Amino acid sequence: LVDDVSTEYFESYEDLNVHRLMLQDAARTNAYQTAITDTQNLFKDKVVMDVGAGTGILSLFCAKAGAKKVYAVEASGLAKTLPQIFSKNGFSDVVTVIHSRVEDIQTLPENAVDIIVSEWMGFYLLHESMLESVLYARDTFMKPGGLMYPNSAQLYAAPCQIPDLWKEHGEFWTSQSHYGFDLSPFGNIAKNRQSPVVETITSDGLMADPQLLFDLNLQTISSSSLEVFKDRRFFTMDQTGDMHAVCLWFTCTFPVVPGKEPVELSTAPWSDKTHWKQTLILLPDKLEFEEGDITGWEISLEKASLIKGSRSYRIHYQCLGDDDEHPVPCECGAVK
Ligand code: SAH
Repeated sequence: LVDDVSTEYFESYEDLNVHRLMLQDAARTNAYQTAITDTQNLFKDKVVMDVGAGTGILSLFCAKAGAKKVYAVEASGLAKTLPQIFSKNGFSDVVTVIHSRVEDIQTLPENAVDIIVSEWMGFYLLHESMLESVLYARDTFMKPGGLMYPNSAQLYAAPCQIPDLWKEHGEFWTSQSHYGFDLSPFGNIAKNRQSPVVETITSDGLMADPQLLFDLNLQTISSSSLEVFKDRRFFTMDQTGDMHAVCLWFTCTFPVVPGKEPVELSTAPWSDKTHWKQTLILLPDKLEFEEGDITGWEISLEKASLIKGSRSYRIHYQCLGDDDEHPVPCECGAVK
């Protein structure tokens, strides 16, 4: 049964501009290409599944690396054009297109594949919840001892100052008159209902060393462990100034072979820009800190499963350890 949210989700992937953006994201696409090419002896004569093939680019990397068979699984209408792509590039014997949600595939036996390749990551890693589909594919179609590309993913957080974005988002209602009128009462409502802001920031905005919130082993993690993440952290501020937001970003790693450098796809503020940018969880009010201050927070990401078929998480942030508690229930569904 495919619900409305899913239909809308797959239709959104029929927009070729979305795929253009991903192909133009060289940091992203090169990471996959290098990870696959550098380990091509692992692909030689193996059966691969590309979960969410899109334009087929990852299937092409795998076919070129010597895979015996690649199943390019794609739910959206792009699947109709994929056979032409593989034949144009000389791989129609290697790649078989399956136009289906991976969860609905009836035509493959269990344990049919050696390797699963997928680009499932969303903003702050988990937005879109496509990882669940990839884990379904792993548990259903991957042989014991098979390999996942990527095989691990990490989410990081750091306090940050973002004066320009703060003016635009945090102080929009309160800091100016609007066409000569005072609309500030909306500010109180807005500040507790901020959506995460997806923007690229520079590392000089980070106010403390980043910390790892979680590290997912994609070979073994279960879908049920993706429901809720809760974490308490203390940061020592290395700058004096106003903290405006918590900055989130992720990294992914791939299987390695001896003699090759490990490949990391990093969306950190100091790494090459990617279309994921960084995700900023704005505070309701800015907080002043001096260098050396310690700040504690609790942050949680909770799958918004109350909303049927929802693909977003609720991010909740709270300052710890002073009288002034700042709960920020953030509805993340609004991230575009
Ligand atoms: N692999 C391509 C596209 C990545 S975007 C690339 O790297 O450029 C993710 C793709 O996965 C989209 O085309 C989307 O339609 C597809 N997708 C998402 N969930 C899926 C599922 N459950 N089954 C099949 N395809 C899925």
